[in-house]
Amino acid sequence: LSERLQATMQRIKGKGKVTEQDIKTMMREVRLALLEADVNFKVVKKFVNTVSERALGSDVMQSLTPGQQVIKIVQDELTALMGGENSKINMSTKPPTVVMMVGLQGAGKTTTAGKLALLMRKKYNKKPLLVACDIYRPAAIQQLQTVGKQIDVPVYTEGDQVSPKEITENALKYAREEHLDFVIIDTAGRLHIDEALMNELVDVKEVSKPDEIMLVVDSMTGQDAVNVAESFDTTLDITGVTLTKLDGDTRGGAALSIRSVTDKPIKFIGMSEKLDGLELFHPERMASRILGMGDVLSLIEKAQQGVDETKAKELEQKMRTSSFTLDDFLEQLEQVKGLGSLDDLMNMIPGANKMKGMKNANMDPKQLDNVQAIIRSMTREERSNPDILNVSRKRRIAQGSGRSLQEVNRLMKQFGDMKKMMKQFTGGNKKGKKGKRAS
Ligand code: GDP
Ligand code: MG
Repeated sequence: LSERLQATMQRIKGKGKVTEQDIKTMMREVRLALLEADVNFKVVKKFVNTVSERALGSDVMQSLTPGQQVIKIVQDELTALMGGENSKINMSTKPPTVVMMVGLQGAGKTTTAGKLALLMRKKYNKKPLLVACDIYRPAAIQQLQTVGKQIDVPVYTEGDQVSPKEITENALKYAREEHLDFVIIDTAGRLHIDEALMNELVDVKEVSKPDEIMLVVDSMTGQDAVNVAESFDTTLDITGVTLTKLDGDTRGGAALSIRSVTDKPIKFIGMSEKLDGLELFHPERMASRILGMGDVLSLIEKAQQGVDETKAKELEQKMRTSSFTLDDFLEQLEQVKGLGSLDDLMNMIPGANKMKGMKNANMDPKQLDNVQAIIRSMTREERSNPDILNVSRKRRIAQGSGRSLQEVNRLMKQFGDMKKMMKQFTGGNKKGKKGKRAS
């Protein structure tokens, strides 16, 4: 949760009872948190009204943990607003399934088309075909061909002299002949919505009868995303949304706004420029993200891809109880090294995205090696109880790892900050570590 919201909660938790005034104060913080996350103000207003009504209900007022109750209501309602659960891609009963990618220029259509093709081939055993219908942007066709080559998926193109409508018709013929069962049409985008483009998209829609019209929206565009979504939906009657670039700093409030304005499900999120960076959209996780809680669940899921499940569970448990040691940290680093961008992962650790120092210092894989070297140079005791690290121990560690004393200090500071954030996230802990920690 945003710091302010958390502070308000803390205050309320200290009291035996909550008053209507307390709830009002909390709602003001919720409102600010949502606006900061780029949620459309109309959506915020409606949302806060709904939540206030529920929060003012007698259950909450009389409960022993009213602050937490209210937060739970906020999360529940946010999740419900975003559709409750993940919706799958629409599959045709008569192959091929046709997906049409639409969206503004630079939103991530071509990249997402590639990601989707890869996902379909790998997870669903489909035989995809990518269709190059962006005939305007220089090198757009070539970009799609490069993507296709990277993931070993064929790309259908007729150059830039044939209309997208014709290309689509021929591509579908081709797909049937070649028994390709999942056709993804990559269309052109503009910087702004214009009529010529919309007409062209309507033509492509008519000839391809897509099972899915996937609107691709850049989550960094914030408020504007709502207008874009609305126009595309009005003209094309979209069936799903992919929100890209959520690996950046954005809180993802656009997700909430788009869903409430169009009432169309968000199906995927883009978490990386790499072609394996397409993830299913989970409303409850997005709700946490919007409220600034980080995304522990996604982190755990990601970790599971590289580690066995019990390890991930242990890690989750440790994060929850804050009995997280440098050994755990090291293990985690080793696991995440193989899992793509650390940037992604840091964003998912509660509060980590607020730690400026940490973010910048740990981005670089080489830095990661250094961190590993430092932790490995510590004794078992030092790792589980870093409070004992005095200057002479630190100097020894620096020497042993070939890093500077300054770096050792920085790492310890970051680790301390991280633990503090985890503690906050989990609401403090009783089962924590022995010894006091300098803070
Ligand atoms: P299009 O014009 O809609 O086809 O957009 P592109 O697919 O060409 O993407 C525009 C830029 O955004 C490219 O540099 C992509 O690498 C980048 N991009 C697309 N999706 C993501 C994402 O989920 N995360 C990040 N970080 N970059 C992305
Ligand atoms: Mg493109």
